[in-house]
Amino acid sequence: MLIVKIGGGSGTQIDPTVADLTEILRAGRRVVLVHGASGETNVLAEKLGKPPRFVTSVSGIQSRYTDRETLEIFEMAYCGKGNKAIVEAFQRRRINAVGLSGLDGRIFEGKRKDAITILEGGKRKVLRGDYTGKVERVNAGLVTLLLDHGYLPVLCPPGASYEGEAVNVDGDTAAAELAAGLKAEELVLLSNVPGLLRQLDDPNSLVDKIPARAIDDFMPLAHGRMKRKLMAAVIALRGGVRRVILASANVEQPVTSALSGHGTVIQ
Ligand code: ADP
Repeated sequence: MLIVKIGGGSGTQIDPTVADLTEILRAGRRVVLVHGASGETNVLAEKLGKPPRFVTSVSGIQSRYTDRETLEIFEMAYCGKGNKAIVEAFQRRRINAVGLSGLDGRIFEGKRKDAITILEGGKRKVLRGDYTGKVERVNAGLVTLLLDHGYLPVLCPPGASYEGEAVNVDGDTAAAELAAGLKAEELVLLSNVPGLLRQLDDPNSLVDKIPARAIDDFMPLAHGRMKRKLMAAVIALRGGVRRVILASANVEQPVTSALSGHGTVIQ
């Protein structure tokens, strides 16, 4: 079993991954694809006159402040345009993809955090009315049902809170929990960077290997959302996943290339 997560940041290409996964699926491998749509959410939010607001928590993690209206825009971008574009790309290649969000069947479930403590201009501030959450449980049974019948599950945030509310959840964490829940051997996290870089502006500064026990030593290199990818790797490895690979989506055969060791291999 292989779990692939492709980021939805602007500049992350989808087509190479779709083409590559088509071949991998035809060779008979069980695959689940998780995707983001953060770039599209920003574009749509601007168009609808509700520009995105990013906040940094006191622990230094960046996230999108998601009030009810933002959650609805988020759903339009993720479950709507983002998810359906990927499902359509697979259907054109005769791969029977089924697109679902983590809210559907509670595939991604967790605790809602309706208040977050942020740092703004050096000051602590509590923001309420946030529809965000952290995936703690996955509905592996539903995903397995689809896989057993030959479908390719194409999954995305939002997830479901324990109260059944739609919540903005981090896609990397969701993919990691899913990889653990499905007992996947490998988790590939694709984005617009070749992996963890020592210097963000230098693609040649790639960290090519991280032993599982040394992840913490590499945390200081990761800024912003890259931190979440390393944290996701910890979740997956603790959950029994053998290898987590951070790699670029913008190369030919991104998944095959990652599996052959191009990227940051965490093991
Ligand atoms: P996703 O597409 O999955 O949402 P992100 O865009 O959030 O992925 O995460 C990748 C981003 O992380 C890169 O574009 C880069 O700007 C940022 N980043 C921060 N620190 C690092 C680092 N040390 N190495 C690589 N990327 C980093």
